[in-house]
Amino acid sequence: MNSTTPSPSFSFAKMFCSLFGHNYHLSKSVTDHVKEYTCSNCGEQATTNSKGHLETMTPKLKEINKDLAFVHAKKMARKNENKIFQVAS
Ligand SMILES: [Zn+2]
Repeated sequence: MNSTTPSPSFSFAKMFCSLFGHNYHLSKSVTDHVKEYTCSNCGEQATTNSKGHLETMTPKLKEINKDLAFVHAKKMARKNENKIFQVAS
C-alpha cells in the first residue's frame, strides 16, 4: 500500500531555478576571494571554488570553507598585530 503524497522536497521555486537559474545572493564572506551564496528562490547554497567559479555547495566544500575562514581569520589577526607593532615602534 504505497501512498502517493507529493514529495515535500518538490517546490515550484526549485522548478523555477532549474528553468531560469538560481538567484544567488551573498550569504557569507569566507575570505577576500571566496564567498558563499544562497539562492533567494530555493535556498540552495553555492560557493566560489579555487578557480573563482561558482560551484554548488557540498559538505566537503563547506568543510574547506570552514578551514579557509579559520586560516583567514588567523592571518588577519597577525596582520593587525604587525600593524600595532609598527605603529608602536
Ligand atoms: Zn534556486
